[in-house]
Amino acid sequence: MNNQQKIFHKLHSDLNIKGKYNFNYNLSKSSWFGIAGNAEIFFVPDDLTDLKLLLENRPKEMNITILGLGSNVIIRDGGISGVVMKLGKSFSNIVDKGEELLVGAAAHDKVLAKFCLNKSIGGFEFLFGIPGSIGGAISMNAGCYGFETKDIFKKAKCITFDGKLCELENSEHMFTYRKNNKIDNLLIYEVYFKKKIKEKKLILNEMTKIDEERKQSQPQKVRTAGSTFKNPKNQTNEKAWSLIKKSNQDIFKKNGISFSREHANFIVNTQFISANHIEDFGEEVRRNVKASTGINLEWEIKILGNR
Ligand SMILES: Cc1cc2nc3c(=O)[nH]c(=O)nc-3n(C[C@H](O)[C@H](O)[C@H](O)COP(=O)(O)OP(=O)(O)OC[C@H]3O[C@@H](n4cnc5c(N)ncnc54)[C@H](O)[C@@H]3O)c2cc1C
Repeated sequence: MNNQQKIFHKLHSDLNIKGKYNFNYNLSKSSWFGIAGNAEIFFVPDDLTDLKLLLENRPKEMNITILGLGSNVIIRDGGISGVVMKLGKSFSNIVDKGEELLVGAAAHDKVLAKFCLNKSIGGFEFLFGIPGSIGGAISMNAGCYGFETKDIFKKAKCITFDGKLCELENSEHMFTYRKNNKIDNLLIYEVYFKKKIKEKKLILNEMTKIDEERKQSQPQKVRTAGSTFKNPKNQTNEKAWSLIKKSNQDIFKKNGISFSREHANFIVNTQFISANHIEDFGEEVRRNVKASTGINLEWEIKILGNR
């Protein structure tokens, strides 16, 4: 046990924290790429009291990282220092509150989309195709086919990394393309969504359409984190996948890593040797796209941890 782990162990027992933890926990199963470094401390809080106790009492230098379902991350080989927190099942409830929906941040996007279908609640159809959690969707302003999380979001209940409870209300500048500008040093644990009644048949049609389009245009059952780079909207109308193709990067392969044949902005990992290789692959593509088109691609995938 190193020093940070000793401190965590003591806090956990002195404060009667209930959630489970592991030291030097390998995160490969927590990343869609199937390869990752270790969490120095991996912690699954049982409830809000656990979260509050730990965050209020941790030493300020103990780093905190939040992980959802790992569908938008590269976790470098050197692992993540400090505490990696992942909300468990106790944070995944979905409650119909009449005027609004109350959803735990660990609920899966797909489960919420199905819940809304059963209850004839419209606007959540796009979430059916996104393989993340609600916390991840709010953090990334996840979206597809013209819909974004910001369209249905009302407010979120959060806790700061110092253990203070707070609320985030939907506001004009809160969300931009695949970004939440208010989320730094916050963990979202509960989200309120706007409700709009819609005919079940129409919801089902929309979900089926999205699902079919995805199956045609995206790889299935492969190790990927979805779109690698953001569309560079402030530089050009051309999409990231098109720039990758134009600069012949869609055929680039290295260390078992390549772009999917179905989608030239989805990196696919077929070898499970190194997460750093995935980052290196992406960086090489960025350099080559810049050299041949002059456009700077920005990562949509979040890169976490140490090299
Ligand atoms: C096959 C595939 C298809 C995809 N298609 C799409 C798509 O169409 N549209 C789209 O937008 N994305 C898509 N993605 C990317 C990804 O699914 C989304 O970004 C998703 O919202 C990430 O959620 P997650 O729970 O996996 O978050 P993670 O990948 O675990 O984390 C992403 C970020 O969210 C933060 N985070 C997670 N939970 C919380 C929380 N509770 N509180 C605070 N911060 C939190 C993390 O710290 C991290 O910075 C796709 C990915 C895959 C693998």
